[in-house]
Amino acid sequence: MKLLSVIIPCYNEEENVRDFYDELFKNAPFFQEKGIEVELLYIDDGSVDKTVQEVRKLRELDERIHLVSFSRNFGKEAAIYAGLQKSKGDLVVLMDADLQDPPSLLPEMYGYIEQGYDSVATRRVTRKGEPPVRSFFARRFYRLMNRISRTEIVDGARDYRLMTRQVVDAILAMSEYNRFTKGIFGWVGYETKWIEYENIERRKGETKFSFWKLFIYALEGITAFSTLPLTIAAVMGAVFCIFAFILIIITVVRTLIFGDPTSGWPSLVCIILLVSGVQLFCLGIVGQYLSKTYMEVKRRPIYLVKEDF
Ligand code: UDP
Ligand code: MG
Repeated sequence: MKLLSVIIPCYNEEENVRDFYDELFKNAPFFQEKGIEVELLYIDDGSVDKTVQEVRKLRELDERIHLVSFSRNFGKEAAIYAGLQKSKGDLVVLMDADLQDPPSLLPEMYGYIEQGYDSVATRRVTRKGEPPVRSFFARRFYRLMNRISRTEIVDGARDYRLMTRQVVDAILAMSEYNRFTKGIFGWVGYETKWIEYENIERRKGETKFSFWKLFIYALEGITAFSTLPLTIAAVMGAVFCIFAFILIIITVVRTLIFGDPTSGWPSLVCIILLVSGVQLFCLGIVGQYLSKTYMEVKRRPIYLVKEDF
């Protein structure tokens, strides 16, 4: 018998807890045929609705249901980490509670694991049903990210992923505080098979990620997996120095030849504004990395548990 751990991060998903369970076990004949035992790990990320109660109700029906609930909302990344830590399975799969990650793909994914892949990942090829502004920025983000980071981050990649124990242990070994899972998956490597599917809209409830939350998440991804912004800051500083040096020589020479008429105040003000702007910008970039380092150095726990069964 093989054990499959299914990790479901839930944040205010009371309507979806039961639906997810029913949908997943539509695969029951497949699990039986392959000799797969299943454990369901609902990770409650500090929900303020009845998510925990729903999971407890399910547990009374089925011993295979488990729950870790957090003391407050720590974010999906923390929930994924907690799930991976709790999982005992030889295989582990991460899925959203809202059924945007269709459990019906599991048999196909399992097939690739049998073929020897270490991990089977999914990406959606369409962004149907998503606000256009969000899609636009998401595309830009992935383009940029893949230019500036050596870690491959796939456009449209979901967190829906089936992994072997080896891959899970590798991810767990990355115990960093600033977790950007999409990057972590790419960073650990291993042989990954990509499966594509059309975007499915959330079954019930609402998305937990606003545009700004995603925007900040994207910035975090950049600082977590690239130091190119720091290099850009340094290069910009160097370019401005060279430029200023040339200007100084021109000014000195001009003064020696043509005397010293006091002119050029407007241009001076513009230059001061530009240069101080660039300085602040670069300082901001350094500040971003410093703040990340600061959080990392504190070694705070990634999540705090309230209930665990
Ligand atoms: N989620 C979470 N913590 C959060 C936000 C979201 O655990 O702070 C979970 C949520 O319950 C869902 C999954 O992460 O199972 C994906 O969230 P959502 O569907 O809202 O994101 P979207 O699919 O819109 O990107
Ligand atoms: Mg969703």
